[in-house]
Amino acid sequence: MKDDNFLKENNARQLWSPMGHPREQMEQPPKIITRAEGVYITDIDGHSVVDAVGGLWCVNLGYSNDAIKEAISRQLYDMPYCSGFAGSTHPMAIEAAHAVQEFFAEDGIERVFFTSGGGDSVDTCLRLARQYHKLRGEPGRTKFLSLKKGYHGTHWGGASVNGNNRFRINYEPLLPGCYHLPAPYTYRNPFDETDPALLAQKIAAMMEDEIAFQDPSTIAAFIMEPILGAGGVIVPHETFMPLMRDICDRHGILMIADEVITGFGRTGHWSGSRHWGVKPDLMSAAKGITSAYVPVGAALISGKVAEVFEGAGAAGTIWHGYTYSAHPVGAAAVVACMSETLRLNTAANAGPRGTQLFEGVKRLAGKYDVIGDVRGGHGLMTGIEIVSDRTKKTPMDAATMKRLHQATYEAGAMVRLGMHNILMSPPLTITEQEVDTVLSALDAGFAAI
Ligand code: PMP
Repeated sequence: MKDDNFLKENNARQLWSPMGHPREQMEQPPKIITRAEGVYITDIDGHSVVDAVGGLWCVNLGYSNDAIKEAISRQLYDMPYCSGFAGSTHPMAIEAAHAVQEFFAEDGIERVFFTSGGGDSVDTCLRLARQYHKLRGEPGRTKFLSLKKGYHGTHWGGASVNGNNRFRINYEPLLPGCYHLPAPYTYRNPFDETDPALLAQKIAAMMEDEIAFQDPSTIAAFIMEPILGAGGVIVPHETFMPLMRDICDRHGILMIADEVITGFGRTGHWSGSRHWGVKPDLMSAAKGITSAYVPVGAALISGKVAEVFEGAGAAGTIWHGYTYSAHPVGAAAVVACMSETLRLNTAANAGPRGTQLFEGVKRLAGKYDVIGDVRGGHGLMTGIEIVSDRTKKTPMDAATMKRLHQATYEAGAMVRLGMHNILMSPPLTITEQEVDTVLSALDAGFAAI
């Protein structure tokens, strides 16, 4: 590896990082992280902090899981690649699909289609949904419904159902036939509704209205995150997802749960859908499927959808897939990660540690007026909405958010900024003491602004 001076000089010179301005990155280059261990990351200057972002809601088992590392390394030596296209497959693909299907059996999942990440998985689900309806003799069902504030990746399909305009506007026109409903976001919504149960009912009524307006026979699927992550950790009322499930059923619309963040224990349950007692027709998964050690995702298919494909003639062929679908190294990581996730029972730790983090941040809200809203309390997903005026709910300016981020980092925790929100999703293996470290770093960060 090149020396530190080379790295600092060339940081952001050739490299464009995601979700950033190329010129701004040159002027304020990203932090160079050189090592990671347990829940800690260390930068090029030797400063170690708790990674309260868990990579990007993904390093569920922390950075030091030897079982996954060994499985990856073994597979690299046995066979670094095998195509799934050419009438061939390999042992780890078979084992990985078996492990993932078993993991989500309680959610009604019977089949697994591997991808290279979350965006791939979302687009795979959207495509399977359209094909499902064509196979059932309803080719007119092509439209998609989703939630504002929802995040479903940056592929064309995912971006089209995305509910945040900054991920859309520069890339329009997107896929036609995608319609968005308000998010179950009590802090800000078009009805000024602060009661989460009533808000759920109002959005359900709007959904019914939109379906009638579009004509149910034109709608393929509705997609939602069980807890909206990147949109600011928006936790729907417990009735919300069951209400949506019921509406989808009554109108023949498939329900896709985007479990890219919420799958694999993050909410304190093995899936976000199970958390709310809902069985979706399709699920998109990624991140925690390998704890992010290797980029892998999966579209998870219920029995209801699978039987339509499997019972169809040639039209049931899935003309869709990726060079790296069930990549052997990825699949080996999946097998090891599934078994480690169950052995460590990470969902059981995510519950109480998530409550500790949530309650701790709520205590900080009593101390700092800039905290407008604190969201979470369902596992290790916590969002803090920062405002410059609590009564007016004025979003905090970007420069202050950057100072808050840096001061928190200097005091011992990496958090993530999502506009004027702080988002936290540490590894599910985090200890009580490490959560306290995050809370005291946040305290110092808020004190600094
Ligand atoms: N869906 C959700 C819910 C996500 O949070 C993300 C990424 N954060 C994606 C899809 C896209 O995943 P990827 O970045 O791996 O394409």
